[in-house]
Amino acid sequence: MFGSGIVQGMRTTLGHLFAKKYTIQYPEERAPLPIGFRGLPRLVYDETPDDLRCVACSICANACPVEVIHIDTHRGEDRKLVLDRFDIEAGGCVFCGLCVEACPFEALTMMHGFEIAGYNREQLFWTKEMLALKATPESEADMHWIAGTKGKQA
Ligand code: SF4
Ligand code: SF4
Repeated sequence: MFGSGIVQGMRTTLGHLFAKKYTIQYPEERAPLPIGFRGLPRLVYDETPDDLRCVACSICANACPVEVIHIDTHRGEDRKLVLDRFDIEAGGCVFCGLCVEACPFEALTMMHGFEIAGYNREQLFWTKEMLALKATPESEADMHWIAGTKGKQA
């Protein structure tokens, strides 16, 4: 009786030893994030960070339910809007993706990352230089997933 209990116990222990592990040893190990993961919104560019897709229309700022997008513009010589400031208060963002959905120019996506904590509010203030993100097939897939245009991408 006693011996069979030990055998049963060893069988259980060995079974766990070779079973598939579900625990991830964060931060050394990272679980893959799914397409459409909603990290902080980012401003997309194709070639260089100073040539953002954003046309400074402010539609995203008006769509943001918590008003954490701050945009300043001026009219250029050709009367087109020029983006002077595009800041996001990351500490107030609720990661809803409504800004990405609202942007008519595919100029916003959301980053694959969630480690954006800071020691004070100033550290959570992302300027347009910090928000600039080069477009990749992955960032475009995220954008279309979040915006609900997945089937319409090129
Ligand atoms: S809606 Fe798009 S193009 Fe318009 S200001 Fe926002 S990011 Fe820029
Ligand atoms: S994800 Fe939502 S809360 Fe964050 S900036 Fe965009 S609209 Fe605002």
